[in-house]
Amino acid sequence: NTLVSARGVSKTYTAANRQPVLALSDVDLDVAQGEIVALIGPSGCGKSTLLRMIAGLDNDYDGELSWTRAPRPGKDIGFVFQEPALLPWRTVERNVSMGLEAQRDRSAEGKARVRNLLELVGLTEFARSFPKELSGGMRQRAAIARALAYDPQILLMDEPFGALDAITRDRLHDDLLRIWEQTHKTIVLVTHSVEEATYLADRVAVMSARPGRIKAVHQVPLDRD
Ligand code: ADP
Ligand code: ADP
Repeated sequence: NTLVSARGVSKTYTAANRQPVLALSDVDLDVAQGEIVALIGPSGCGKSTLLRMIAGLDNDYDGELSWTRAPRPGKDIGFVFQEPALLPWRTVERNVSMGLEAQRDRSAEGKARVRNLLELVGLTEFARSFPKELSGGMRQRAAIARALAYDPQILLMDEPFGALDAITRDRLHDDLLRIWEQTHKTIVLVTHSVEEATYLADRVAVMSARPGRIKAVHQVPLDRD
């Protein structure tokens, strides 16, 4: 039940001084349906690069990324960044429905999904609020709801809790696990924190830099019941 697998994926950037930078070297990784995989490693080891490749945001690489079921363009890959990047002039509800609007989806089903997502992330009462009226944690929960709008095959999260204070971060960890329990969404999560990786993930891929590689993949014993 592999969802996506990377085989021998390498990525070379051209630096400003025109020198090549080998950002990823020969990466193999299988992501199974419904699992949470954390990518952990020092700055510059290629975590964001690998996420962007999986997201299809950069197709200029060597090696192969293959999907069991081809992702629907613009729908099947949800992305959450460190900054929630909500549109300040839109309500929470209309931020969450942004993707649906971009696809001109005005269906009753789409509207119902937005309501369900707001409930899932605990923002039903804030549907009509604007981002500036929310706390940082609530804004990130709105960003997660927005990323789930099309019921994507996979949720890619690039240090999603990195900008939050410690207490909010702990809360969001439990929120994410609750969301996972209800959706069984496949998640690839980039983090700097071993604690976060082992708390949230089923498996932890440890990366090293220069060149960016996966050193080891550890299974995390985790009892979610
Ligand atoms: P991480 O997310 O683990 O911090 P990145 O994927 O951002 O690592 O970067 C991996 C390497 O690729 C780093 O050496 C970084 O400097 C380099 N890099 C990333 N993006 C670019 C780019 N657009 N142009 C040139 N080099 C880049
Ligand atoms: P609507 O809510 O009418 O559908 P959108 O939120 O889609 O509008 O915004 C339409 C365009 O107007 C956007 O592409 C955005 O660039 C611009 N825009 C709207 N409000 C603002 C604002 N307060 N600040 C900056 N740009 C804005």
